[in-house]
Amino acid sequence: MIIRMRADAAKADVEFALARLASLGIQTHVSLDGPSTLIGLSGPVATVPESLLQSMRGVEAVLATKQPFRLASSDFRRDRSVVRVGDVAVGEDIVVIAGPCSVEGRDQVLLAAEGVAHAGATMLRGGAFKPRTSPYSFQGLAEEGLKYLAEAGAETGLPVVTEVVAPESVELVAEYADALQIGTRNMQNFALLAAVGKISKPVVLKRGMMSTIEEWLLSAEYILSSGNPNVILCERGIRTFETATRNTLDINAVAVALEISHLPVIVDPSHSTGRRSLVAPVSRAAVAAGADGLIIEVHPDPDHAQSDGFQSITPAQLAELIEQCRSVAEAVGRRL
Ligand code: PEP
Ligand code: MN
Repeated sequence: MIIRMRADAAKADVEFALARLASLGIQTHVSLDGPSTLIGLSGPVATVPESLLQSMRGVEAVLATKQPFRLASSDFRRDRSVVRVGDVAVGEDIVVIAGPCSVEGRDQVLLAAEGVAHAGATMLRGGAFKPRTSPYSFQGLAEEGLKYLAEAGAETGLPVVTEVVAPESVELVAEYADALQIGTRNMQNFALLAAVGKISKPVVLKRGMMSTIEEWLLSAEYILSSGNPNVILCERGIRTFETATRNTLDINAVAVALEISHLPVIVDPSHSTGRRSLVAPVSRAAVAAGADGLIIEVHPDPDHAQSDGFQSITPAQLAELIEQCRSVAEAVGRRL
């Protein structure tokens, strides 16, 4: 349950409501929706008559939801959230985040950054801490990689997104990155979610490859309820019986998430397909389904990439993909 305070409610009204709820044994989670304060309730809410909540001064509405998540729910926020990453607004025009799977070296990431910037990307991606399935695979350059990525971002004017894999490195990654990515394997690493919830830099939250949409939004709720409102959801494909592709892009999840949440939703056509020939068609589908952006693996020399080369496209292919997606965006009333 959530209490929406009136936009003109006095601070004292909000404080009174919080004290009253505390005296009833209810836990509260405060957030802002434009000028209105939202108070999320948890604990023995069912024991309190709704009329009592409704009668507190400054209360506009008492809202119930069938969803187990609250701050992430569209029931409680009238407007879609726009998350600012550097000077890019995610949730307005469609964004294209592009770059290599891994930062492999200074020259590689500079070349990739120039390539994607030239192709029309709006943000740069690149992993410095790589969560690899095998301990023998390239694990990333760690802080050295973050430095090269930040330099490439500064050089091209593109904000940078990179993955963080451990709570203790959140601060370090946030020093270099404009947005932090939580990978599919860490979607339910609750200590990590709480840690990125304590900073204000935006978080790209990938859906767990074996997680339901509800679990994904509850993970978003961990970040939001820890105090960071800047969450971008990313559908990156789930595990199914299908073997023709690396994962199965759940296009339904894009539409569902846009319906039940106010958070921006982006799509990763690289990890969801695992095949470079499929990246462009699946990107077009994502834009048609209403995605707010794409995150795409692009490498200057995909065949010699240290990770995920088989699903990486070249900057020239990215330029073509962006042109195609632009036409689709216009057809569905969006801009790219
Ligand atoms: C990545 O973006 O390179 C990555 C590892 O993604 P995911 O967590 O979706 O597998
Ligand atoms: Mn990858």
